Amino acid sequence: MFQLTSDQIRNNISSLPQEFSVDILDIPGYELVLSCTHAPSKLDAIIAIHSLDLGPSLGGIRYFSYKHRQEALHDALRLSKAMTYKSATAGVGIGGGKSVIIGKPEDKTPALLHAFAEFVNVLEGRYIAAKDVGMTEKDLHIVEEKTPYVVGLDKPHSSGNPSHFTAWGVYIGMRSLWKKITGSTSLQGASIAIQGLGSVGWLIAERLFWEGADLLVNDIDPGKMELASLHFGASIVSEKSIATTKCDIFCPAALGAVLSSKNIPFLDAKLIAGAANNPLTDSQDAEMLEERGIIYAPDYVINAGGLFNVVTELDSSGYCPVKARERTSHLSPSLVSIFDSSRKKRISMLSAAKSLAEYRLQYNIGRRQERIDFHKRTIL
Ligand code: NAD
Repeated sequence: MFQLTSDQIRNNISSLPQEFSVDILDIPGYELVLSCTHAPSKLDAIIAIHSLDLGPSLGGIRYFSYKHRQEALHDALRLSKAMTYKSATAGVGIGGGKSVIIGKPEDKTPALLHAFAEFVNVLEGRYIAAKDVGMTEKDLHIVEEKTPYVVGLDKPHSSGNPSHFTAWGVYIGMRSLWKKITGSTSLQGASIAIQGLGSVGWLIAERLFWEGADLLVNDIDPGKMELASLHFGASIVSEKSIATTKCDIFCPAALGAVLSSKNIPFLDAKLIAGAANNPLTDSQDAEMLEERGIIYAPDYVINAGGLFNVVTELDSSGYCPVKARERTSHLSPSLVSIFDSSRKKRISMLSAAKSLAEYRLQYNIGRRQERIDFHKRTIL
């Protein structure tokens, strides 16, 4: 239902003005990967759709000055596949997609963003764009001037900033797993080390403070650490030791690849539950944590609050924050069931989450039942 035929794609490409040059890249295991250049605006972009099995693909636009095209393609492929797994596990009727624009910050002009939007239109809604690294709210509004296939804007009837939903999802997920591990229904008295006090990390810290947790924090911005100390009585920990500091729960909420075979042997926590994407350096790290008896909540399951929020925008009735909150609340039972399955099969939670996503994809579980009326969305 969501796939386009190759004739449709070729027709849509040929309907673009002649300054556009679009190639279909043959990448095994991927639904569709297109590369596009538009010389007048200096646009050089790739859209990768990993899967349309459960619904139209959705993923952020990453604007970055990649050194090589291959590096940009690698990012688009890796991140679109990750979106497939995240969406399948969340059960939101969405496939995995991602776009990357290769460019220097000074080349990000309205003309380039408009050309990118026209490239997005070729896919007739099979790729829905959102904000990612290198794109601002303002940039997304410029993209939206030429395409309806954009979500997450800060305007009425849009889902806006996802951070509150992501933070709340991490908090409820952390609490559910803590109950599984200790039997305690609250995080009161638990020591929780938070790495990164940005949009999400700060909101997590605030919730945990009111729950009665003891916070340990680190951020590269000393001002944020001072504020956390002032407002939450948080202890400041150095950048080098935040991951291995003695605590009950480590909450990565800054960068990826903060855990690896180098520091996992020194971790002194019972649970890892945070917002950061890809905190593990490679998938073997999950097994290493498992061997050490440390529970790792898979990033793409526990940080899916923002995804639950943004897909609510695609409802035929329009965006509703109450529905977005209800959807995000499903994250807790979902994490608990992945935890139970991992204990039963004696595998890591990451392996259990992967199996769940693959099972759902194989049997089309959670597939979107109807097409999204993008025209109606824009006039809501
Ligand atoms: P942000 O940019 O608002 O905050 C990141 C924070 O980390 C900043 O305060 C920054 O100073 C700090 N930081 C950067 N490098 C650091 C380092 N080496 N050590 C300690 N602190 C460091 O980002 P965010 O939106 O809060 O997202 C945090 C993480 O969560 C990212 O990995 C992001 O991909 C992921 N995530 C965010 C959302 C969301 O809704 N914003 C959704 C899913 C996943």
